[in-house]
Amino acid sequence: MVSRVIPVEPFDLVIFGGTGDLARRKILPALFRRFCSGQMGEESRIIGAARSDHTAGEFRQMVSEAIEEFNTTTQCEGGTLDAFLERIDYVHVDARGEEGWQTLSDMMIPGRVRAFYFSVAPSLFGDLAERLHAHGMADSDSRIVVEKPFGRDLETARALNETLARHFDESQIYRIDHYLGKETVQNLMAVRFGNMLFEPLWNSQYVDHIQITVAETVGVGGRGEYYDRSGAMRDMVQNHLMQLLCLIAMEPPAKFDPDAVRDEKLKVIRALDPVETGNIVRGQYGPERKGGPDYLDDVENPRATSESFIAMRTTISNWRWAGTPFYLRTGKKLKARASEIAVIFKETPHSIFGPEAGRHRNILTIRLQPNEGMDLDVTIKEPGPGGMRLVDVPLDMTFAEALGPDGEDVPDAYERLIMDVIRGNQTLFMRGDEVEAAWAWTDPIIEGWESRGDRPVTYEPGSSGPEDALALVHRDGRRWREIRA
Ligand code: NAP
Repeated sequence: MVSRVIPVEPFDLVIFGGTGDLARRKILPALFRRFCSGQMGEESRIIGAARSDHTAGEFRQMVSEAIEEFNTTTQCEGGTLDAFLERIDYVHVDARGEEGWQTLSDMMIPGRVRAFYFSVAPSLFGDLAERLHAHGMADSDSRIVVEKPFGRDLETARALNETLARHFDESQIYRIDHYLGKETVQNLMAVRFGNMLFEPLWNSQYVDHIQITVAETVGVGGRGEYYDRSGAMRDMVQNHLMQLLCLIAMEPPAKFDPDAVRDEKLKVIRALDPVETGNIVRGQYGPERKGGPDYLDDVENPRATSESFIAMRTTISNWRWAGTPFYLRTGKKLKARASEIAVIFKETPHSIFGPEAGRHRNILTIRLQPNEGMDLDVTIKEPGPGGMRLVDVPLDMTFAEALGPDGEDVPDAYERLIMDVIRGNQTLFMRGDEVEAAWAWTDPIIEGWESRGDRPVTYEPGSSGPEDALALVHRDGRRWREIRA
């Protein structure tokens, strides 16, 4: 199946932090792929902006190296990279000073779609907004893209929203959560709301429980200092896992329009129950068996109480979901890199095949990584003679296979999201009130363990997390799904 590429109108994208890690690993390769596909046209421009002094030529060299290292596409032909690099410029700008701002302002073309990507430390977001305004670039042609983390609690998120709102309308602010840009996550909405099959069953009457797992094999790497201030709750649950939960749990919006979708997500967050202490397990990875650093070494803080793993059981108080547990877990240095949402349906009310046929139930698994796709486990007769034995088999839809040769090149989340910014479509971006509601739910949970002085338990690297996390689900008579790639 050949995917249709609809070119976007010519744009200028200014990447503040153009020399940084995120720009090099994600943003610039994503733009290159959109250029290769023909979606980003020859008239569009990408302007790197950062504190260090580079010529445009030096920056182009940096971009070329980043694409060489991080672009995985096989579809671009020779010469395309040179054409892409011609679209690139650089300005040396200090977010906290006057340097470079007039040059940047002079480069802008009036009337053209203009996006400013804030790929810098969050402490600079306010400065950038102020200076864009002071130099006449915060007009109605402009949009800003804001990276995570969006605050570290309700108070800071609110302050940041207020700062941005001084110069930009909510319709101009794109708060990125790259999980929402994943093909599978959008397919979750297509499957739910585009098929008759699932929606009638999508409630506590037919769904036994839901599991959301985001497991990584890596440790905190070079981000120790950031991670110790954040922990898995702030870094992963408050944004990514919460967004996934919202898409699973929300009511069908009246139409697929940004505010209709975000209104429904907001209602889910507001209906989330507070999580009691006994329904949370926090962990820190210990040293590898063969030795090496543990979590405390990696964050360089022997007294760190932040968590590299968290599992929780939460519930939603509304008509659709009352009584259905949502189990969330995320962690580092686990046994596999695997992210999935699993909707576990209830068993049939009565088995006509008798107790010897065993217990069976349908499971819809939405795989975010690796192999983005979906499985639906259905129960069938085990082939062959010998009576009516039942077996569960997956109906597998791996997008790369299902979509044919072009499907192998399913666009990366950043490609889709940046193009949405240019098109002015905010559906897959978080609204200010959504972010605040998410913090309003998260804050008391964090305050709870901080005020008690709880310490995370230690778990073995390469495991599924702490034993206590297994118990969290076992005591409800359920079990976690295997973490496997
Ligand atoms: P980084 O590698 O430390 O890069 C920071 C960038 O900011 C550099 O380009 C730096 O320019 C620029 N900068 C610093 N101070 C500046 C100033 N006063 N004026 C103008 N530019 C300045 O950071 P990063 O990892 O790319 O992260 C950027 C943002 O994305 C952060 O908010 C981070 O939380 C978020 N994020 C990152 C990732 C990731 O995988 N890296 C993932 C999700 C979210 P110079 O090099 O010239 O100093």
